[in-house]
Amino acid sequence: MPRGVYKRTKAVWNKGLNKEIEPRLRHSPETRKQMSESHKGKTLSTKYRRRISKALKGRSKETHEYIAILADKRKGHPVSNETRRKISDSLKGRILWNKGMFRAGLTPWNKGFTKENHPSLAKMGEKETGDRNVAWKGDEASYSCIHKWVRKNKTKPKNCEQCGEKKKRLELSNTSGEYKRDVDDYRYLCIKCHKAYDCGLLPFKRRQLILKVW
Ligand SMILES: [Zn+2]
Repeated sequence: MPRGVYKRTKAVWNKGLNKEIEPRLRHSPETRKQMSESHKGKTLSTKYRRRISKALKGRSKETHEYIAILADKRKGHPVSNETRRKISDSLKGRILWNKGMFRAGLTPWNKGFTKENHPSLAKMGEKETGDRNVAWKGDEASYSCIHKWVRKNKTKPKNCEQCGEKKKRLELSNTSGEYKRDVDDYRYLCIKCHKAYDCGLLPFKRRQLILKVW
């Protein structure tokens, strides 16, 4: 097409319009899908990324689900020391989410329930134990020291001290939530009872969350 020949006599049809007021400017779901597909696998230039970042600033999109999605995408990507330091700096001075959560004298929610009369307890039994559930234990290192001491000073029974069942694997469970240097503050529980007990010490909302994860 030769340049400079055509002169615009009419204003562009979409001048001054945006997709909020003009339906023709909105993409149909199919088109959106196509656009999304065609962009997959592409990497954006730094300049472009910065522009997007600027445009998105101040948005409150950082809901938990959104963060979870982002985290999932990041899986397997190493984080540089620089970034680690930045994250560390930004977290400094924060109060731990589980601070003050363990209180003495709290009645566990599952007291008197068994897996026969409580659906959640039955559900717990189905799931395997593992390191997935360290989330509410907090600082592992500080507990391991006192746990070692208790293991040395408290004889391990053959049966779970809660349900009385004979189990190969018994775990030390703290009764008061205060991790006292006192053998009477600990019981050897089977995995099932241990989980159920620890879970009972947590506030209701947090407990529901964990049960959902299980
Ligand atoms: Zn038990």
